[in-house]
Amino acid sequence: MASASQPAPGWGTDRPAASWNPPRCGVPDLPTLPDGQNGRNRQKRFVLSGGHWEKTDLTYKIIRFPWQLVNTKVRRTIAEALKVWSDVTPLTFTEVHEGRADIVIDFTRYWHGDNLPFDGPGGILAHAFFPKTHREGDVHFDYDETWTIGNNLGTDLLQVAAHEFGHVLGLQHTTVSKSLMSPFYIFRYPLSLSEDDKQGIQYLYGKPKTDPVPAPAQEHLLTGIRYSQSVQPDACDTDFDAVSTIRGELFFFKSHYVWRLRNGKLQAGYPALASRHWQGIPSSIDAAFEDSLGNIWFFQGSQYWIYDGERRLSGPASISELGLSASPVQAALMWGTEKNKIYFFKGGSYWRFNPSTRQVETIYPRRMADWRGIPQEIDAAFQDEFGFAYFLRGLLYWKFDPVQVKVLEGYPRQISHDFFSCAPSSNFFR
Ligand SMILES: [Zn+2]
Ligand SMILES: [Zn+2]
Repeated sequence: MASASQPAPGWGTDRPAASWNPPRCGVPDLPTLPDGQNGRNRQKRFVLSGGHWEKTDLTYKIIRFPWQLVNTKVRRTIAEALKVWSDVTPLTFTEVHEGRADIVIDFTRYWHGDNLPFDGPGGILAHAFFPKTHREGDVHFDYDETWTIGNNLGTDLLQVAAHEFGHVLGLQHTTVSKSLMSPFYIFRYPLSLSEDDKQGIQYLYGKPKTDPVPAPAQEHLLTGIRYSQSVQPDACDTDFDAVSTIRGELFFFKSHYVWRLRNGKLQAGYPALASRHWQGIPSSIDAAFEDSLGNIWFFQGSQYWIYDGERRLSGPASISELGLSASPVQAALMWGTEKNKIYFFKGGSYWRFNPSTRQVETIYPRRMADWRGIPQEIDAAFQDEFGFAYFLRGLLYWKFDPVQVKVLEGYPRQISHDFFSCAPSSNFFR
Protein backbone atom coordinates (compact mmCIF):
# COMPACT_ATOMS: atom_id res chain seq x y z
CA MET A 1 0.00 0.00 0.00
CA ALA A 2 2.72 2.42 0.97
CA SER A 3 4.95 1.61 -2.00
CA ALA A 4 4.67 5.07 -3.43
CA SER A 5 7.87 4.55 -5.40
CA GLN A 6 6.28 1.80 -7.48
CA PRO A 7 5.77 2.95 -11.06
CA ALA A 8 2.06 3.12 -11.55
CA PRO A 9 0.45 3.55 -14.95
CA GLY A 10 -2.52 5.77 -14.51
CA TRP A 11 -5.29 7.64 -16.18
CA GLY A 12 -4.01 8.38 -19.64
CA THR A 13 -0.91 6.18 -19.92
CA ASP A 14 -1.04 6.49 -23.68
CA ARG A 15 0.42 9.94 -23.20
CA PRO A 16 4.13 10.37 -22.51
CA ALA A 17 4.26 10.27 -18.73
CA ALA A 18 7.56 12.09 -18.59
CA SER A 19 6.16 15.27 -20.07
CA TRP A 20 2.73 15.13 -18.48
CA ASN A 21 1.68 14.00 -15.06
CA PRO A 22 -1.60 12.17 -15.73
CA PRO A 23 -4.31 12.51 -13.10
CA ARG A 24 -4.88 9.21 -11.40
CA CYS A 25 -5.75 7.38 -8.24
CA GLY A 26 -2.90 7.28 -5.76
CA VAL A 27 -3.37 3.64 -4.86
CA PRO A 28 -0.47 1.79 -6.53
CA ASP A 29 -1.42 -0.80 -9.16
CA LEU A 30 -0.55 -4.40 -8.61
CA PRO A 31 1.83 -5.96 -11.13
CA THR A 32 -0.15 -7.59 -13.96
CA LEU A 33 -0.52 -11.31 -13.41
CA PRO A 34 0.73 -13.53 -16.22
CA ASP A 35 -2.44 -15.62 -16.20
CA GLY A 36 -6.08 -14.78 -15.81
CA GLN A 37 -5.90 -11.63 -17.88
CA ASN A 38 -7.10 -13.20 -21.08
CA GLY A 39 -10.61 -13.54 -22.46
CA ARG A 40 -11.22 -17.01 -21.06
CA ASN A 41 -11.44 -15.75 -17.52
CA ARG A 42 -13.67 -12.80 -18.19
CA GLN A 43 -15.88 -13.43 -15.22
CA LYS A 44 -13.06 -13.17 -12.73
CA ARG A 45 -10.74 -10.28 -13.40
CA PHE A 46 -11.55 -8.06 -10.47
CA VAL A 47 -8.66 -7.93 -8.01
CA LEU A 48 -9.10 -8.16 -4.27
CA SER A 49 -6.97 -6.36 -1.73
CA GLY A 50 -7.10 -9.37 0.57
CA GLY A 51 -9.43 -7.92 3.17
CA HIS A 52 -13.06 -7.02 3.62
CA TRP A 53 -15.25 -5.62 6.40
CA GLU A 54 -16.67 -8.17 8.80
CA LYS A 55 -19.93 -6.22 9.06
CA THR A 56 -22.28 -4.83 6.44
CA ASP A 57 -23.67 -1.73 8.21
CA LEU A 58 -20.93 0.88 7.92
CA THR A 59 -20.76 4.48 9.09
CA TYR A 60 -18.86 7.34 7.47
CA LYS A 61 -17.80 10.83 8.41
CA ILE A 62 -16.55 13.75 6.34
CA ILE A 63 -13.83 15.66 8.23
CA ARG A 64 -13.06 18.47 5.78
CA PHE A 65 -14.65 19.66 2.55
CA PRO A 66 -13.30 21.07 -0.73
CA TRP A 67 -13.56 24.83 -0.98
CA GLN A 68 -15.18 24.90 -4.42
CA LEU A 69 -18.38 23.05 -3.45
CA VAL A 70 -21.03 23.66 -0.84
CA ASN A 71 -21.05 21.07 1.91
CA THR A 72 -24.57 19.78 1.28
CA LYS A 73 -23.63 19.05 -2.32
CA VAL A 74 -20.51 17.18 -1.23
CA ARG A 75 -22.59 15.17 1.24
CA ARG A 76 -25.09 14.24 -1.45
CA THR A 77 -22.31 13.26 -3.84
CA ILE A 78 -20.54 11.09 -1.28
CA ALA A 79 -23.85 9.35 -0.51
CA GLU A 80 -24.44 8.81 -4.23
CA ALA A 81 -20.96 7.35 -4.68
CA LEU A 82 -21.53 4.89 -1.83
CA LYS A 83 -24.96 3.97 -3.20
CA VAL A 84 -23.51 2.37 -6.34
CA TRP A 85 -21.90 -0.21 -4.01
CA SER A 86 -24.80 -0.64 -1.58
CA ASP A 87 -27.25 -1.13 -4.49
CA VAL A 88 -25.69 -4.48 -5.40
CA THR A 89 -24.71 -5.77 -1.94
CA PRO A 90 -26.18 -6.08 1.58
CA LEU A 91 -23.97 -3.10 2.56
CA THR A 92 -25.50 0.03 4.13
CA PHE A 93 -23.78 3.37 4.71
CA THR A 94 -24.85 5.90 7.34
CA GLU A 95 -23.29 9.31 7.76
CA VAL A 96 -22.31 10.32 11.28
CA HIS A 97 -21.24 13.81 12.34
CA GLU A 98 -19.36 13.01 15.52
CA GLY A 99 -17.66 10.13 17.28
CA ARG A 100 -15.83 7.46 15.38
CA ALA A 101 -16.82 6.18 11.95
CA ASP A 102 -15.77 3.21 9.87
CA ILE A 103 -15.02 5.30 6.80
CA VAL A 104 -13.33 8.66 7.38
CA ILE A 105 -13.25 11.05 4.43
CA ASP A 106 -10.89 14.01 4.30
CA PHE A 107 -9.75 16.63 1.81
CA THR A 108 -6.11 17.32 2.54
CA ARG A 109 -2.88 18.65 0.99
CA TYR A 110 0.71 17.56 0.36
CA TRP A 111 2.23 15.81 3.35
CA HIS A 112 -0.66 14.68 5.55
CA GLY A 113 0.74 12.00 7.79
CA ASP A 114 0.42 8.72 5.87
CA ASN A 115 3.63 8.52 3.77
CA LEU A 116 1.60 9.14 0.61
CA PRO A 117 1.83 12.92 0.21
CA PHE A 118 -0.35 14.67 -2.36
CA ASP A 119 1.25 16.64 -5.14
CA GLY A 120 -0.76 19.81 -5.72
CA PRO A 121 -3.05 20.25 -8.75
CA GLY A 122 -3.17 17.28 -11.19
CA GLY A 123 -1.28 14.06 -10.73
CA ILE A 124 -2.55 12.10 -7.75
CA LEU A 125 -6.20 12.93 -7.06
CA ALA A 126 -7.06 10.72 -4.12
CA HIS A 127 -6.23 7.50 -2.36
CA ALA A 128 -7.84 5.14 0.07
CA PHE A 129 -6.82 2.37 2.42
CA PHE A 130 -7.92 -1.25 2.21
CA PRO A 131 -9.78 -3.13 4.94
CA LYS A 132 -7.58 -4.96 7.45
CA THR A 133 -4.74 -2.46 7.01
CA HIS A 134 -3.61 -0.10 9.75
CA ARG A 135 -5.52 2.84 8.24
CA GLU A 136 -8.57 0.93 7.06
CA GLY A 137 -11.49 3.17 6.16
CA ASP A 138 -9.42 6.29 5.43
CA VAL A 139 -10.20 8.08 2.17
CA HIS A 140 -8.13 11.13 1.26
CA PHE A 141 -8.86 13.56 -1.56
CA ASP A 142 -6.27 16.05 -2.78
CA TYR A 143 -7.62 19.44 -1.65
CA ASP A 144 -5.68 21.16 -4.45
CA GLU A 145 -7.72 19.60 -7.27
CA THR A 146 -10.48 21.57 -8.95
CA TRP A 147 -13.35 19.48 -7.66
CA THR A 148 -16.55 19.57 -9.69
CA ILE A 149 -19.71 17.49 -9.86
CA GLY A 150 -21.37 16.28 -13.03
CA ASN A 151 -19.21 18.14 -15.52
CA ASN A 152 -15.84 17.81 -17.13
CA LEU A 153 -14.52 21.25 -16.14
CA GLY A 154 -12.45 19.91 -13.30
CA THR A 155 -12.06 16.62 -11.50
CA ASP A 156 -15.40 14.93 -11.00
CA LEU A 157 -15.86 14.14 -7.32
CA LEU A 158 -18.56 11.51 -7.90
CA GLN A 159 -16.38 9.35 -10.18
CA VAL A 160 -13.28 9.60 -8.00
CA ALA A 161 -15.19 9.02 -4.75
CA ALA A 162 -17.00 5.94 -6.08
CA HIS A 163 -13.65 4.53 -7.20
CA GLU A 164 -11.97 5.20 -3.84
CA PHE A 165 -14.88 3.61 -1.96
CA GLY A 166 -14.24 0.47 -4.01
CA HIS A 167 -10.75 0.39 -2.47
CA VAL A 168 -12.08 1.08 1.03
CA LEU A 169 -14.39 -1.93 0.64
CA GLY A 170 -11.57 -4.24 -0.49
CA LEU A 171 -11.22 -3.98 -4.29
CA GLN A 172 -7.92 -3.36 -6.05
CA HIS A 173 -7.52 -1.90 -9.52
CA THR A 174 -8.91 -4.12 -12.28
CA THR A 175 -7.55 -4.52 -15.80
CA VAL A 176 -11.08 -4.52 -17.23
CA SER A 177 -11.53 -1.24 -19.09
CA LYS A 178 -14.65 0.85 -18.50
CA SER A 179 -14.78 -0.47 -14.94
CA LEU A 180 -15.09 1.88 -12.02
CA MET A 181 -12.08 0.10 -10.49
CA SER A 182 -9.95 0.64 -13.56
CA PRO A 183 -7.15 3.10 -12.81
CA PHE A 184 -8.00 4.80 -16.11
CA TYR A 185 -10.22 7.77 -15.46
CA ILE A 186 -13.01 8.36 -17.93
CA PHE A 187 -15.56 11.07 -17.30
CA ARG A 188 -18.76 9.12 -17.83
CA TYR A 189 -22.38 9.68 -16.82
CA PRO A 190 -24.47 8.21 -15.42
CA LEU A 191 -22.13 6.57 -12.95
CA SER A 192 -22.50 2.80 -12.99
CA LEU A 193 -20.63 -0.35 -12.07
CA SER A 194 -19.29 -2.65 -14.76
CA GLU A 195 -20.10 -6.35 -14.52
CA ASP A 196 -16.54 -6.83 -13.23
CA ASP A 197 -17.00 -4.25 -10.45
CA LYS A 198 -20.28 -5.88 -9.49
CA GLN A 199 -18.87 -9.38 -9.39
CA GLY A 200 -15.91 -8.17 -7.37
CA ILE A 201 -17.98 -6.51 -4.67
CA GLN A 202 -20.50 -9.36 -4.54
CA TYR A 203 -17.64 -11.79 -4.18
CA LEU A 204 -16.71 -9.96 -0.98
CA TYR A 205 -20.15 -9.21 0.46
CA GLY A 206 -22.73 -11.23 -1.45
CA LYS A 207 -25.90 -10.04 -3.14
CA PRO A 208 -28.47 -7.67 -1.64
CA LYS A 209 -30.92 -9.23 0.77
CA THR A 210 -34.06 -9.65 -1.30
CA ASP A 211 -36.80 -10.66 1.13
CA PRO A 212 -36.38 -8.95 4.49
CA VAL A 213 -39.68 -10.40 5.84
CA PRO A 214 -39.35 -14.16 6.39
CA ALA A 215 -42.53 -16.22 6.43
CA PRO A 216 -43.57 -17.71 9.79
CA ALA A 217 -41.46 -20.83 10.39
CA GLN A 218 -44.32 -23.30 10.64
CA GLU A 219 -46.05 -22.17 7.50
CA HIS A 220 -42.74 -22.06 5.68
CA LEU A 221 -42.00 -25.65 6.65
CA LEU A 222 -45.40 -26.90 5.50
CA THR A 223 -45.34 -25.17 2.17
CA GLY A 224 -41.74 -26.26 1.78
CA ILE A 225 -42.61 -29.92 2.10
CA ARG A 226 -45.66 -29.69 -0.10
CA TYR A 227 -43.68 -27.87 -2.70
CA SER A 228 -40.78 -30.25 -2.60
CA GLN A 229 -43.00 -33.31 -2.83
CA SER A 230 -44.60 -31.98 -5.95
CA VAL A 231 -41.25 -31.36 -7.59
CA GLN A 232 -39.23 -34.35 -6.40
CA PRO A 233 -36.30 -34.34 -8.79
CA ASP A 234 -35.63 -37.28 -11.07
CA ALA A 235 -32.06 -38.58 -10.70
CA CYS A 236 -32.13 -39.49 -14.39
CA ASP A 237 -32.55 -35.88 -15.40
CA THR A 238 -31.15 -33.49 -12.84
CA ASP A 239 -27.98 -31.79 -11.81
CA PHE A 240 -26.93 -32.01 -8.15
CA ASP A 241 -26.19 -29.46 -5.44
CA ALA A 242 -23.60 -31.51 -3.57
CA VAL A 243 -22.19 -35.02 -3.29
CA SER A 244 -20.22 -36.50 -0.43
CA THR A 245 -18.94 -39.79 0.85
CA ILE A 246 -20.37 -40.17 4.36
CA ARG A 247 -19.54 -43.21 6.49
CA GLY A 248 -18.39 -45.03 3.38
CA GLU A 249 -21.63 -44.42 1.49
CA LEU A 250 -22.26 -41.93 -1.25
CA PHE A 251 -24.90 -39.22 -0.78
CA PHE A 252 -26.18 -37.07 -3.64
CA PHE A 253 -28.02 -33.90 -2.66
CA LYS A 254 -30.57 -31.95 -4.69
CA SER A 255 -32.91 -29.32 -3.21
CA HIS A 256 -34.61 -31.03 -0.20
CA TYR A 257 -33.65 -34.52 -1.29
CA VAL A 258 -30.85 -36.99 -0.85
CA TRP A 259 -29.99 -40.24 -2.69
CA ARG A 260 -27.96 -42.87 -0.86
CA LEU A 261 -25.68 -45.33 -2.67
CA ARG A 262 -23.96 -48.23 -0.97
CA ASN A 263 -21.37 -50.15 -3.02
CA GLY A 264 -22.65 -48.36 -6.08
CA LYS A 265 -26.29 -49.37 -5.48
CA LEU A 266 -29.12 -46.95 -4.80
CA GLN A 267 -30.68 -47.89 -1.46
CA ALA A 268 -34.38 -48.57 -1.02
CA GLY A 269 -36.44 -45.62 0.18
CA TYR A 270 -34.38 -43.03 -1.66
CA PRO A 271 -34.56 -40.27 -2.65
CA ALA A 272 -35.64 -39.14 0.81
CA LEU A 273 -35.89 -35.76 2.46
CA ALA A 274 -32.40 -34.80 3.61
CA SER A 275 -33.92 -33.39 6.80
CA ARG A 276 -34.83 -36.96 7.77
CA HIS A 277 -31.12 -37.60 8.38
CA TRP A 278 -29.96 -34.16 9.33
CA GLN A 279 -32.56 -32.20 11.22
CA GLY A 280 -32.17 -28.48 10.62
CA ILE A 281 -30.21 -28.90 7.39
CA PRO A 282 -31.08 -26.07 4.97
CA SER A 283 -33.42 -26.92 2.14
CA SER A 284 -30.77 -26.96 -0.55
CA ILE A 285 -27.09 -27.09 0.23
CA ASP A 286 -24.19 -25.87 -1.86
CA ALA A 287 -21.51 -28.29 -0.72
CA ALA A 288 -20.76 -31.04 1.78
CA PHE A 289 -17.81 -33.10 2.99
CA GLU A 290 -16.88 -35.50 5.78
CA ASP A 291 -13.71 -34.68 7.69
CA SER A 292 -11.20 -37.11 9.22
CA LEU A 293 -13.10 -37.13 12.52
CA GLY A 294 -16.23 -38.24 10.69
CA ASN A 295 -17.95 -34.90 11.09
CA ILE A 296 -20.10 -33.80 8.18
CA TRP A 297 -19.91 -30.21 7.04
CA PHE A 298 -22.77 -28.65 5.08
CA PHE A 299 -22.60 -25.30 3.32
CA GLN A 300 -25.35 -23.04 2.11
CA GLY A 301 -24.99 -19.40 1.08
CA SER A 302 -22.78 -17.61 3.57
CA GLN A 303 -23.28 -20.24 6.30
CA TYR A 304 -22.12 -23.69 7.35
CA TRP A 305 -23.24 -26.45 9.72
CA ILE A 306 -21.36 -29.38 11.28
CA TYR A 307 -23.02 -32.70 12.14
CA ASP A 308 -21.69 -35.74 13.95
CA GLY A 309 -23.67 -38.46 12.26
CA GLU A 310 -27.19 -37.11 12.43
CA ARG A 311 -26.58 -34.89 15.44
CA ARG A 312 -25.96 -31.21 14.87
CA LEU A 313 -22.76 -30.04 16.56
CA SER A 314 -22.77 -26.42 15.41
CA GLY A 315 -24.26 -24.01 12.95
CA PRO A 316 -25.41 -22.04 11.29
CA ALA A 317 -22.14 -20.12 11.43
CA SER A 318 -20.66 -17.67 8.95
CA ILE A 319 -18.23 -19.07 6.38
CA SER A 320 -16.21 -15.87 6.76
CA GLU A 321 -14.96 -17.42 10.03
CA LEU A 322 -13.17 -19.96 7.84
CA GLY A 323 -11.44 -17.25 5.85
CA LEU A 324 -13.85 -17.49 2.92
CA SER A 325 -15.75 -14.59 1.38
CA ALA A 326 -19.49 -14.27 1.94
CA SER A 327 -20.54 -15.66 -1.43
CA PRO A 328 -21.61 -19.30 -1.66
CA VAL A 329 -19.20 -22.20 -2.00
CA GLN A 330 -19.99 -24.27 -5.10
CA ALA A 331 -18.34 -27.53 -4.06
CA ALA A 332 -16.14 -29.03 -1.37
CA LEU A 333 -13.76 -31.93 -1.83
CA MET A 334 -12.12 -34.04 0.85
CA TRP A 335 -9.01 -35.39 -0.84
CA GLY A 336 -6.13 -37.63 0.10
CA THR A 337 -5.94 -40.84 2.13
CA GLU A 338 -5.42 -38.93 5.38
CA LYS A 339 -8.71 -37.08 4.82
CA ASN A 340 -6.90 -33.93 5.85
CA LYS A 341 -6.96 -32.05 2.56
CA ILE A 342 -10.16 -30.15 1.98
CA TYR A 343 -10.70 -27.97 -1.05
CA PHE A 344 -13.40 -25.39 -1.61
CA PHE A 345 -14.41 -24.38 -5.10
CA LYS A 346 -16.20 -21.34 -6.41
CA GLY A 347 -16.19 -19.18 -9.50
CA GLY A 348 -13.25 -20.82 -11.24
CA SER A 349 -11.07 -20.68 -8.14
CA TYR A 350 -10.28 -22.97 -5.25
CA TRP A 351 -8.94 -22.75 -1.70
CA ARG A 352 -7.25 -25.36 0.44
CA PHE A 353 -8.76 -25.65 3.90
CA ASN A 354 -7.27 -27.00 7.11
CA PRO A 355 -10.11 -28.57 9.13
CA SER A 356 -8.07 -28.67 12.35
CA THR A 357 -7.33 -24.93 12.39
CA ARG A 358 -10.64 -24.25 10.63
CA GLN A 359 -8.99 -21.77 8.29
CA VAL A 360 -8.26 -21.66 4.60
CA GLU A 361 -4.49 -21.84 4.13
CA THR A 362 -4.50 -18.58 2.26
CA ILE A 363 -7.37 -16.26 1.46
CA TYR A 364 -5.97 -15.81 -2.03
CA PRO A 365 -7.64 -18.32 -4.31
CA ARG A 366 -5.82 -20.57 -6.76
CA ARG A 367 -7.03 -21.22 -10.27
CA MET A 368 -9.05 -24.21 -11.43
CA ALA A 369 -6.47 -24.76 -14.16
CA ASP A 370 -4.42 -26.66 -11.53
CA TRP A 371 -7.09 -29.39 -11.79
CA ARG A 372 -6.21 -30.38 -15.33
CA GLY A 373 -9.26 -31.17 -17.43
CA ILE A 374 -11.85 -30.00 -14.90
CA PRO A 375 -14.22 -27.22 -16.04
CA GLN A 376 -14.00 -23.79 -14.44
CA GLU A 377 -17.37 -24.02 -12.73
CA ILE A 378 -18.47 -27.16 -10.93
CA ASP A 379 -21.56 -28.14 -8.92
CA ALA A 380 -20.16 -30.81 -6.63
CA ALA A 381 -17.08 -32.93 -5.88
CA PHE A 382 -16.21 -36.02 -3.87
CA GLN A 383 -13.55 -38.70 -3.48
CA ASP A 384 -14.11 -42.43 -3.80
CA GLU A 385 -12.55 -45.18 -1.67
CA PHE A 386 -9.70 -45.61 -4.17
CA GLY A 387 -8.64 -41.99 -4.02
CA PHE A 388 -10.13 -40.81 -7.32
CA ALA A 389 -11.81 -37.41 -7.23
CA TYR A 390 -15.07 -36.79 -9.06
CA PHE A 391 -16.26 -33.41 -10.26
CA LEU A 392 -19.88 -32.84 -11.29
CA ARG A 393 -21.29 -30.18 -13.50
CA GLY A 394 -24.80 -30.25 -14.92
CA LEU A 395 -25.59 -33.81 -16.01
CA LEU A 396 -21.93 -34.76 -16.45
CA TYR A 397 -19.00 -35.79 -14.29
CA TRP A 398 -15.25 -35.99 -14.64
CA LYS A 399 -13.05 -38.57 -12.90
CA PHE A 400 -9.70 -37.26 -11.73
CA ASP A 401 -6.56 -39.37 -11.35
CA PRO A 402 -4.66 -38.55 -8.14
CA VAL A 403 -1.39 -40.02 -9.48
CA GLN A 404 -1.28 -38.37 -12.89
CA VAL A 405 -3.07 -35.33 -11.46
CA LYS A 406 -5.40 -34.98 -14.41
CA VAL A 407 -8.76 -36.11 -15.75
CA LEU A 408 -8.92 -39.72 -16.97
CA GLU A 409 -9.47 -40.49 -20.65
CA GLY A 410 -13.08 -40.85 -21.74
CA TYR A 411 -14.56 -38.18 -19.48
CA PRO A 412 -16.93 -36.43 -18.99
CA ARG A 413 -19.57 -39.11 -18.66
CA GLN A 414 -23.23 -39.04 -17.67
CA ILE A 415 -24.02 -39.01 -13.95
CA SER A 416 -27.49 -40.54 -14.44
CA HIS A 417 -26.16 -43.49 -16.42
CA ASP A 418 -23.14 -44.36 -14.29
CA PHE A 419 -24.57 -43.78 -10.78
CA PHE A 420 -28.31 -44.28 -11.20
CA SER A 421 -28.42 -46.83 -14.05
CA CYS A 422 -30.62 -44.58 -16.18
CA ALA A 423 -30.80 -45.07 -19.94
CA PRO A 424 -28.35 -42.81 -21.74
CA SER A 425 -30.07 -39.48 -22.19
CA SER A 426 -30.56 -37.66 -25.43
CA ASN A 427 -29.87 -34.56 -23.42
CA PHE A 428 -26.25 -35.59 -23.15
CA PHE A 429 -24.88 -32.63 -25.05
CA ARG A 430 -27.30 -29.98 -23.97
ZN1 LIG B 1 -7.64 3.46 -7.33
ZN1 LIG C 1 -3.53 10.11 2.56
